[in-house]
Amino acid sequence: MEDTVKIVLLGSPGSGKGTTRDLIAQHYNLKTIIVGDIVKQEIRNESHLGQLMYKYTTEGKLVPDQFIMDLVAAQCSDIKDYNGFIIDSAPLSLEQKQELLKRLDIDVAVYLKISNYDVVRQRTALRLVCPNCKLVSSVVSTPDAICPRCGAHLERRYDDNPQTVETRINRFIRETIPVVNEFKKEGKVVTINAELDKQAVFNEIIKKLDNFFNKSTLK
Ligand SMILES: [Zn+2]
Repeated sequence: MEDTVKIVLLGSPGSGKGTTRDLIAQHYNLKTIIVGDIVKQEIRNESHLGQLMYKYTTEGKLVPDQFIMDLVAAQCSDIKDYNGFIIDSAPLSLEQKQELLKRLDIDVAVYLKISNYDVVRQRTALRLVCPNCKLVSSVVSTPDAICPRCGAHLERRYDDNPQTVETRINRFIRETIPVVNEFKKEGKVVTINAELDKQAVFNEIIKKLDNFFNKSTLK
């Protein structure tokens, strides 16, 4: 287990998490754990935990952090054929971080840093996604709104309207930046300038992660 790579990916909306996550997972052969997806999957499976979580969501309540982290930890312990895992969208708060670290260790938090949130406002205003293959594009690069990968009709994300984006940015600053700062104190943050284009972001990540793992865990 010593050589397992354990990464969390943190970044505001519009920081390029989805694209970056897929590139990192592919490059290092990591299992991708997308928190929203595994919660939905568990509810669909109608497991005991899934039924509990469904009850919370139908009552308009937040699913307690310990339930979500139980699910995340279960996914992380089942990584056969992979070199490790990358968790997208957790921990989003100090409470979630505490719950997560009760269950497993994390080597490194990759932080997709945005210094000027106007970049995010602009990206999300232009963003299009493919409902079929999940490709992320923009009205600039695909003005015909046809997915270049699978031919489906691209759509706006429901939570990309300006008001929701502001709420999501504010929540990130208030609740998730403290998580980044704590990981920083523990010497576990790799900060990436997420305002660059995606190839530059990816190159920077690979360089810094290779460096990080050479220095710390892969002795
Ligand atoms: Zn597509």
